[in-house]
Amino acid sequence: MQVRRFPCDPGPAAWNELLPAGQQRAALKHAVTADWLVVGAGFAGLSAARRLSELHPTDRIIVLDATRVAEGPAGRNSGFMIDVPHDLTSSNYSGNTNHNLREIRLNRAGIDYAKSACEAFGMSAEAFSLRGKINGAITQRGVEHNTGYALHLDHLSEPYERLDANAMKSITGSSSYIDGLFSPGTAMIQPALFIRSLASGIETERLKIFEQSPVHELKREGVTWKAITPEGSVSTAKVILAVNGHLESFGFYDRSLMHIFTYGSMTHALSKTDLARLGGHSEWALTPADSLGTTVRRISGTGGDRLIIRNRATFDPTLAVKDKRISQVARTHDRSFKDRFPMLKNVEMQYRWGGRLCLSRNNVSVFGEIENNLYAACCQNGLGTAKGMVSGKLIAEEACGVQSDLLDDQKSDAQPSKLPPQPISTVGANMVLRWGEFKAGKEL
Ligand SMILES: Cc1cc2nc3c(=O)[nH]c(=O)nc-3n(C[C@H](O)[C@H](O)[C@H](O)COP(=O)(O)OP(=O)(O)OC[C@H]3O[C@@H](n4cnc5c(N)ncnc54)[C@H](O)[C@@H]3O)c2cc1C
Repeated sequence: MQVRRFPCDPGPAAWNELLPAGQQRAALKHAVTADWLVVGAGFAGLSAARRLSELHPTDRIIVLDATRVAEGPAGRNSGFMIDVPHDLTSSNYSGNTNHNLREIRLNRAGIDYAKSACEAFGMSAEAFSLRGKINGAITQRGVEHNTGYALHLDHLSEPYERLDANAMKSITGSSSYIDGLFSPGTAMIQPALFIRSLASGIETERLKIFEQSPVHELKREGVTWKAITPEGSVSTAKVILAVNGHLESFGFYDRSLMHIFTYGSMTHALSKTDLARLGGHSEWALTPADSLGTTVRRISGTGGDRLIIRNRATFDPTLAVKDKRISQVARTHDRSFKDRFPMLKNVEMQYRWGGRLCLSRNNVSVFGEIENNLYAACCQNGLGTAKGMVSGKLIAEEACGVQSDLLDDQKSDAQPSKLPPQPISTVGANMVLRWGEFKAGKEL
């Protein structure tokens, strides 16, 4: 199969820019053989490679990525490794309990695998820490979302704490939030630092990562698979595709994967005066009560104290967006920022960027053997940090014949359902997103 499209990440990978220059790995420049090839060095790919090396320490494992480690979506997300999803799927707080419990089990297994990597590879608390997050509400509608979410959590016996406007101001410094719901199980990561540390932690003589090595073609030669990059090739018995939405670029699940871009902006490092004006805690992480609202984080690690916001979502089936999209979205970002932090009216954004997510219409992932000895752990449906970690680990176990209840949980998903034909799906999906953002009102 000829690969049809390649990753294209708009704007800088801001989290990576904050860090000292990282390890520059070579591109693949010759023909090699290996026991395993993993395509994609994001959460799923690195997790799969790590698990393979745990199960078969003497096997030779190659990881190829089209870009540099931490430059793709794995290094440009907002860094919430969420255990309990926001959109719990029952309308009466009692339906679908099994589905919710299964999803929470899987997400927690992903967070546990990330935590064990953090311990094994000596990552700092900046890279990974289990410190929870807040669902922040600005509008009455947002408060109702939080109340509904709290009922779900009660039903699932999950812990949480409700925060009033005063508590929200003392944490965030912003007077905009009238309600919050703190849940303790989310791990917060500096995504570029985490993914860089994971990549360097798993590398050994037997496990090699090649950057800037896009797979252009993947073909069978007898019983082996051969992956061809611009300057080299890998011949191998088994391949794991951990490329999220780019699975479609390899010719699989045509018209079944929804390619969404979402966007972030990060301020310059805040000055002492800015910090005094802002007040609040030095680190906090807030998801919006309305899922199409604005995610906000305050960080205080390498690169100084900064605020980061993320909002807007666009459906882009070509897997690419034009640069002007970033400047269009910047207008919404600046408004969202000024609404929440009017005391910081002189603070400018230093970085603006976008990145890819992959969803399916029926909220299922792509997991398993998709052709003989060709495996996929893709379509993470939004919560791709935790889901990528767990689906990567489990796809390695599946390919090695290891069985577990968790693997059965992961395999119990249906197949992604088909999207309507073009242009209906693009027009329809973007209308749904725009309407959702309109209804989010001040939560955006
Ligand atoms: C702005 C933003 C904020 C987000 N916030 C969050 C959040 O807070 N929490 C959360 O859980 N998720 C978040 N996400 C989503 C999350 O980043 C993704 O779901 C996650 O990165 C998916 O992990 P993955 O390993 O499956 O895929 P990816 O991280 O996309 O990794 C796939 C890799 O495959 C490589 N690849 C693709 N094609 C080829 C090829 N032909 N050859 C070689 N390599 C190839 C790509 O370069 C890429 O590095 C956010 C995304 C964005 C853009």
